[in-house]
Amino acid sequence: MTQLRQNLATKEWVIIATERARRPDDFIHSGHGPAHDVPELDAHCPFCPGNEEDELEALRLPETGPWEVRIVRNLYPAVAPEGMLVRDFAGVAREMSGIGYHEILVESRLHNETLALMTPAAVTSVFRALVERGREIAQDRRIEMIVIFKNHGHSAGASLLHPHTQIVALPIVPNDVRVRADEARRYYDQQGQCVFCDVLGHELASQTRIVCETDHFVALVPYAAAGPFNTWIMPRRHTASFFGITEVELEDLGGIVQTMLRKLYEGLYNPDYNFVVRTAPTRDGGVDYLHWYITLVPRLAQAAGFELGSGIFINVTLPEACAEFLRKTGVVDGL
Ligand SMILES: [Zn+2]
Ligand SMILES: [Zn+2]
Repeated sequence: MTQLRQNLATKEWVIIATERARRPDDFIHSGHGPAHDVPELDAHCPFCPGNEEDELEALRLPETGPWEVRIVRNLYPAVAPEGMLVRDFAGVAREMSGIGYHEILVESRLHNETLALMTPAAVTSVFRALVERGREIAQDRRIEMIVIFKNHGHSAGASLLHPHTQIVALPIVPNDVRVRADEARRYYDQQGQCVFCDVLGHELASQTRIVCETDHFVALVPYAAAGPFNTWIMPRRHTASFFGITEVELEDLGGIVQTMLRKLYEGLYNPDYNFVVRTAPTRDGGVDYLHWYITLVPRLAQAAGFELGSGIFINVTLPEACAEFLRKTGVVDGL
């Protein structure tokens, strides 16, 4: 018999299809393997050294000398900061001007680099730049939500090969974010506790879905994971906003993100994946009921009509088995 599982924090349901269950080992060769035929430098790539367009640059680290990471404005942005924020609601025509920020973080000088193979310190630089830029953008009072995400590989939506992460800052709180926040607030009202702190407490007590731990973070496969190897990387300290991260936590975060990506790279042979930093809306950075985390989603299954019609995913792997597979995948932490 299959099993329906509900995520305590988001209240989303998933079907764990144990009857058509696939063992984690079935996914070993799901990825594309190392990028052998990609050069270190591509003369036509806008993100490669030598092709920098300084007028698009928003931030670089370090500030002097050769850059390690850069944030640049997207040439074809979904939203842009110039202009007035105008709302116009008339019947079905509910409109706002496309005010916001759409920027690209270039993760490395090397065209063929990938986060999974970078050093923990280099991955920390990526997150440091995201935090610094996010704090700057949040000063713009028009901005309500900052979405940080990465598309790695074609089936994760990446169109450019050079390793990069994206920032989209919006003048609204997206409905999906609002629904999750409402659920978390409801739980807080009933239990007097942050639901994410409670999830973390339960998972640490059971240990069955924990993949790895550091001083400040825990990586786990959620009880109601929507798909194979979906992972949450959660800070132990209750913080609603990613932009409230401390320096010690930042240094630790680079290590655990790199470890998790390396486990996927080695265990599943460099699969396509997305990650998203789930953080509080900019005006809710200090609330007790939200808790930021990173969700990591390897693109191993295709959503289809059922998911579209129900919002429910069918996961063909057991979260506990995925966690065990990732725990055993040979990565020396902090390498
Ligand atoms: Zn490049
Ligand atoms: Zn919490």
